[in-house]
Amino acid sequence: MLPDIKSQTAEELRIKFQSWSQSAYRVDQLLEWLYVHRVADWEAMTNLPKTLRDQLRTSFSLYSLELVRKQGSQDETQKFLWRLTDHSLIESVLIPASPALYGEASDRHTLCVSTQVGCAYGCSFCASGLEGLERNLRVEEIVDQVLGVERWHQRQGSKLPVEGGKLEEVEPATWNAQLGSKQRLISNLVIMGMGEPLANYTSLLKALTILNARWGGGIGARKITISTSGLVPQIRKLADEQLQFRLAISLHGATDETRNKIMPVNRKYPLSELTAACEYYQQKKGRMITFEYILIAGVNDGLDQIGPLARLAKRLNAKVNLIPYNKVEGLRWERPAEEAQERFLRALERQKVSATLRREKGHDIDAACGQLRLKTERELGEAAKALIE
Ligand code: SAH
Ligand code: SF4
Repeated sequence: MLPDIKSQTAEELRIKFQSWSQSAYRVDQLLEWLYVHRVADWEAMTNLPKTLRDQLRTSFSLYSLELVRKQGSQDETQKFLWRLTDHSLIESVLIPASPALYGEASDRHTLCVSTQVGCAYGCSFCASGLEGLERNLRVEEIVDQVLGVERWHQRQGSKLPVEGGKLEEVEPATWNAQLGSKQRLISNLVIMGMGEPLANYTSLLKALTILNARWGGGIGARKITISTSGLVPQIRKLADEQLQFRLAISLHGATDETRNKIMPVNRKYPLSELTAACEYYQQKKGRMITFEYILIAGVNDGLDQIGPLARLAKRLNAKVNLIPYNKVEGLRWERPAEEAQERFLRALERQKVSATLRREKGHDIDAACGQLRLKTERELGEAAKALIE
């Protein structure tokens, strides 16, 4: 299998082009085709000499995700279902600016990105982990989630009216350069789709380096949030990287007892170790940690969690995002009643913790990404398979 062109940094391409005796400006031209025009085809790169295009074609693949379905909802959140070459399905979710969450008022759109097919960590409330890990995503499969959504956006005006809540037929991604535009749709990333990002560390970091680079995706590192269930060694490693990513910890319990019940990873890396790693991250990177806390009825929504949660949040200067649990079919967990959610929030606020509670109702929330999928990948997978077959 050839390496993919979207898994290469500008530096790697420069070295390659040098060995081919090609001028450096040819690399810039190539990068513009890839990351500004987002073409899906070598032939579209009309200002590169044919001999160079042929050389590229025999040395690299040029991979584009195939968009098989898109689901839009009334608040303009859009869910994209992609089919990979091995027929696995993954999804990305496009969320309009939502200052209360990870973004700022000036932000345009946030894309929630997947990093693995399935997940090995088996949190008992989560759809992604139900069937274990299938495989890691490759660099280009992570990078192209951003480019693929932007390709969709480029041609959206003419061909793809968005209907509330309906699954739509979409042609495979075969469009190209003529529709190119310099406008970038996506200003923020949250790495909270399917999979445990830090378990696919090397490919994730390379993909984020490409998406961050000025010659690539142009997305500021501070506008990229990586969510983890708590892989302690990788959190420390991430703290030592140069790029200043934000970190979200899927906490979901403020004591080992509660966390052990729902997150097997806590037996390997209990809260004391997780907290120490977060502290290390915080020292190296500043105030950049968020706790994700999904509220599950009778499991972690008791007021006994408030004290320990407030202590952890204060110690790490972390903000708490409370997310009412999204019911997953086949799993026994339930979302607490609204009063219980509000009570939990107020109790935290009384402890002077900075906290938010997602209050959206109805089906619109299901696409709110990390907060994640009401409609599970599995359900989507089944639905899509039925439609495709
Ligand atoms: N593996 C990483 C990132 C992907 S999961 C992690 O666990 O952080 C992204 C977020 O979605 C996590 O906070 C996860 O706990 C949450 N999540 C999973 N299933 C959910 C559900 N049914 N309802 C609400 N949030 C859910
Ligand atoms: Fe994996 Fe995150 Fe789901 Fe846990 S919550 S099973 S780590 S995707």
